[in-house]
Amino acid sequence: MLALTGRRMGYRIAILDPDPNCTASPVADLCLTAPFDDSAALHRLAEYSQVITYEFENLPIESLRLLASLKPVYPDPSILHICQHRERERDFLKTSGFPSPRYSVVTSASDLATAMKTFSGKTRLKSSAFGYDGKGQLSLEPSTDSTKAWQKIQVPRAILEEHVPFVRELSAIIARDSAGHTVSYFPFENRHQDGILERTLFPARIPDQTANRATQLAEQIAKKLNLVGLLTVELFELSDGGLWVNELAPRVHNSGHLTAEACPTSQFEQQIRAICGLPLGTVSPIGPAAMFNLLGDLWNNGEPDWAPLLALPAASLHLYGKAEARPGRKMGHLTIRAPDLDQAIQLGLSALNPIREKAKLPPLLP
Ligand code: AMP
Repeated sequence: MLALTGRRMGYRIAILDPDPNCTASPVADLCLTAPFDDSAALHRLAEYSQVITYEFENLPIESLRLLASLKPVYPDPSILHICQHRERERDFLKTSGFPSPRYSVVTSASDLATAMKTFSGKTRLKSSAFGYDGKGQLSLEPSTDSTKAWQKIQVPRAILEEHVPFVRELSAIIARDSAGHTVSYFPFENRHQDGILERTLFPARIPDQTANRATQLAEQIAKKLNLVGLLTVELFELSDGGLWVNELAPRVHNSGHLTAEACPTSQFEQQIRAICGLPLGTVSPIGPAAMFNLLGDLWNNGEPDWAPLLALPAASLHLYGKAEARPGRKMGHLTIRAPDLDQAIQLGLSALNPIREKAKLPPLLP
């Protein structure tokens, strides 16, 4: 989606990806198929490029540092270094005074047993590195056997954090240019299923005060990180209206996909503007929109019949062209615009639930 947008803006695109069938390959001018730490491929990418960015966090930081020694890389690799590792991320949030869940670092079953005792209720065990879409995470009860849980997660380091009884999950996406100008989207409201984003609603159904606080947090974090580019701040909204930061992602984000239809400047264009030194675009909502992820499970009975989705008014079907549909794999998304959010949700459910039924999946709930 970044590459498609870059092409529309008149740029030429080179990508590096270990997968020859990666989704950007059909739209890239140059496709380097190599591991992310292949020095020759990194040099070639830098040679071809005037500016470099990334839209995936599990990258070897040394590769980004090498690229940054050759050409500008935005956001700066030091930001990715913080965000790609939960311990560093939580430590950054805590020491900078940004509200986030309490946590302990865990490196053994006995650490885990000790940490579980310090939290009175339910907890969440999260691998320190290489986690995304709920991967490398376990929900623990106080009665859970810590030895078994540690064996199950199978990682050398993790954090144990308190379970947060949030009323809503939100995300704030902010762009910041090299002069420190920022533009923030109105917050997004997110619903997850099994740790994977199921839907995003926009604008989030929250009081202005909460929206302002979310934007303020995103601005303060972006400034503290000296960001150039895009940053997504995932937030938990508590019952008293307070906001806690769950995660940071220095990149375009799944919760911002609907900006392609719901805002004058999409998150993809905004990231390209920010890293290319162009003025940032306007982001005031054009109207309400709901985005539903299309996961590989929908392919249980072969490729779904998309006709009912295509028949929806003001709906955009995005299919990423991934060769293999696996359970939980993001294969595409559907964005629906409507005069109000309830209508957008209803339209989405009425079109998606028959497709889910054919794939023997439970219906999506309002
Ligand atoms: P993460 O990969 O950390 O964003 O976690 C994926 C999803 O799991 C989040 O979006 C939440 O829905 C849920 N989750 C993660 N951490 C917690 C927590 N400490 N308390 C409650 N739910 C959580």
